[in-house]
Amino acid sequence: MKNIDTFDFTNKKVIIRVDFNVPLNEKFKITDDTRIQATIPTIKKVLNSGGSVILMSHLGRPKDGPENKFSLQHLVPALSKQIGVEVQFADDCVGKQAIEKAKNLNHGEVLLLENLRFYKEETKGDEAFAQKLAQLADVYMNDAFGTAHRAHASTAVIAKFFPNNKMFGYVMNNELININKIVKDGKKPITAILGGAKVSGKIEILNNLIDKVDNILIGGGMMFTFIKALGGEVGNSLVEDGLIDTAKAAMQKAEENNVCFHLPTDAVIADKFDNEANRKFCNSHEIPDGWMGLDIGPETGQAFKDIIENSKTIFWNGPMGVFEMENFEHGTIEVAYAITEATKNGAFSLIGGGDSVAAINKFHLQDKVSYVSTGGGAMLEFIEGKTLPGVASIVE
Ligand code: AMP
Repeated sequence: MKNIDTFDFTNKKVIIRVDFNVPLNEKFKITDDTRIQATIPTIKKVLNSGGSVILMSHLGRPKDGPENKFSLQHLVPALSKQIGVEVQFADDCVGKQAIEKAKNLNHGEVLLLENLRFYKEETKGDEAFAQKLAQLADVYMNDAFGTAHRAHASTAVIAKFFPNNKMFGYVMNNELININKIVKDGKKPITAILGGAKVSGKIEILNNLIDKVDNILIGGGMMFTFIKALGGEVGNSLVEDGLIDTAKAAMQKAEENNVCFHLPTDAVIADKFDNEANRKFCNSHEIPDGWMGLDIGPETGQAFKDIIENSKTIFWNGPMGVFEMENFEHGTIEVAYAITEATKNGAFSLIGGGDSVAAINKFHLQDKVSYVSTGGGAMLEFIEGKTLPGVASIVE
């Protein structure tokens, strides 16, 4: 594996797998360009070091071949502006035109290829397709952390055609360094905060964190499966009955590992799933029938705040309640502020996974935490202890 900072890019054509899966409005204008912005330092590094850049990405989920609404051509104006170079476009990611345009690319120039997922071969990890992409360039760089958990043609398979010329870009490097600050080199006490709707999506990450952290704080809809497992009354709250034994086993494992497993002691309950529902505070183990818990209560908020503010390393995934509704956002806000407070006092904090990132952005706190991971699914799998194909194919 080579290093982007020390590699000699002079006159090299570098094909970079980026994650340009950005949201577009009905006029095909980008509504959030965070993912594009994130890759600019990588692209500029290659251009400023004498190389040229071929960018490849997916956009959306095209079902059956090319579709205008998923064309990466819509990104060309914004991308050209951000890089400061007129970006060329190949309207097919493989084939004659792509080969021609790649061949004629001079150092300092950028070529964007059309959506990789217009070919089924991409997600199938087809080797012949990967080879066609590979023949466009001298060097392969993976800077798409968001798809690093997929063994697709452009994210993993292609790497084998560049045994001596493959590397990570800065987005990948940063993600790996920061996530490792939680799973490998975290300073104690380490606190993991898990919330969100369901236990089912979080159980593997929970099990992997149990032998690495000091505190686990549970909130969100998932808390009720644990509370029910302990014999609590949860009323109409979200519960996954099929996971009661799994929840019990996780709590048992935490105890054996001397990990403090904190469940909410109180909750904000409502008589329906609606911002305007009747609501009151209640012991989280004694929720009456006809009521459901939609947020952690104030006593829990205070207890969680104390633990978070005394932690040196913090990982947060999943909101504490239905934060999309104003009346049930309070617990999530309290946790978010406690994390920013701890960060101010020197703790390392990492926020990752779809809805906690949405929450931290909603409260405009994203600049007050140490790191916000861009790769939801990939980050979760990495913390779960799984090997990511996009990482393994570069490192091996
Ligand atoms: P996840 O994608 O699993 O992180 O779940 C995020 C979703 O969980 C958000 O849309 C929240 O509204 C929802 N959520 C959080 N707390 C609760 C709760 N107590 N009951 C139902 N849904 C919840």
